[in-house]
Amino acid sequence: MFEKIVVAIDGSESADSALEIACDLAKKYQSEIHLVHSPQLETTAIAVGYGAVEINPNPKAVEEAGKQVMDRAVEKATALGCVPGECIISNGDPADEILKAAEAAKADLIIMGRRGLGRLSSLILGSVSQKVSHDAQCACLTVC
Ligand code: ATP
Ligand code: MG
Ligand code: MG
Repeated sequence: MFEKIVVAIDGSESADSALEIACDLAKKYQSEIHLVHSPQLETTAIAVGYGAVEINPNPKAVEEAGKQVMDRAVEKATALGCVPGECIISNGDPADEILKAAEAAKADLIIMGRRGLGRLSSLILGSVSQKVSHDAQCACLTVC
C-alpha cells in the first residue's frame, strides 16, 4: 500500500506536518516520496522569511526562493530518514502542478497541509488543498 506518495510543499507549518507524516508512512510502507513545490510570487518570499513587505516580484528572486523552500524540505525529509525520490519545482497553478506530478508518478497518495501560507481567508481548507482533494484521482490526506 502507498507505493508512491506526493507531498505538496509551500514552506508552511502545515506542509511541514504533511512531510513528517509522509516520511513516517514511507518508512512503514517502503514508499517512494516525491516533493512538489510551485513557487508563487506572493508566497515564496514569505516562505523563506523575507517578510511580506520585501516581496520582490523579480522572477529570479522567486526562483531562488523556490529552491530554498525545496532545499529545506529535502533537508527535513533526510533528517527524518527519508530521501525523496524526486523533487519537482514547477511554475504554474499550484493545485494543477500537484495533480500533474501525482498523475505522472502514478502516485497512490497525495499529502498536503490543510492550510498554507495564505492564512488570511477564513476557509477551513485553503484553495490549493480544496482543489487538489476535489480533483485528485488517488487518495488525499490533508493535515493540520
Ligand atoms: P490560500 O492559498 O487559498 O489563500 P492557504 O495558503 O491557507 O490558502 P493552501 O494554499 O490551500 O492554503 O495550502 C494548503 C496546502 O497546499 C499547503 O500546506 C501545501 O501542502 C499545499 N500547497 C499550497 N501552495 C502550494 C504551492 N505553491 N506548491 C506546493 N504545494 C502547495
Ligand atoms: Mg496558499
Ligand atoms: Mg493563494
